[in-house]
Amino acid sequence: MYRIARELGFCYGHRLIDYAGKCAQLHGHNARVVLHVEAPDLDAQGMVVDFFEVRDRLGRWLDETWDHRMILHENDPALAALQALGEPVVVLDCNPTAENLARLVYDRARAADLPVVAVDFWETPGCCATYRPD
Ligand SMILES: [Zn+2]
Repeated sequence: MYRIARELGFCYGHRLIDYAGKCAQLHGHNARVVLHVEAPDLDAQGMVVDFFEVRDRLGRWLDETWDHRMILHENDPALAALQALGEPVVVLDCNPTAENLARLVYDRARAADLPVVAVDFWETPGCCATYRPD
């Protein structure tokens, strides 16, 4: 089995609802996402998946969908005000924790036909959540 890891970065804002700590306040992160992609055999170029292909299939989606946006729970009280101001908001049916965002990136990578097996979502340089389906 071969495995590659591709790191992508983006900036986002969020907060957690039904939470009593500092993360209940609107704030932002410079996230690092590491996709772990596996294949039992290499392609004709000797690769699992071209690193550029991972960037094109998932990095573009991150840039266009999540980068420099607020990512909020659908029940967040700030949501209506931000939408009324025309701010681009990503609305989730779950709290935008690193764990949930890791799972959503995984799902998106799978939908883009990347044989991803795990996603590390670094919310800060010291805090990482990993999602893998098994
Ligand atoms: Zn945060």
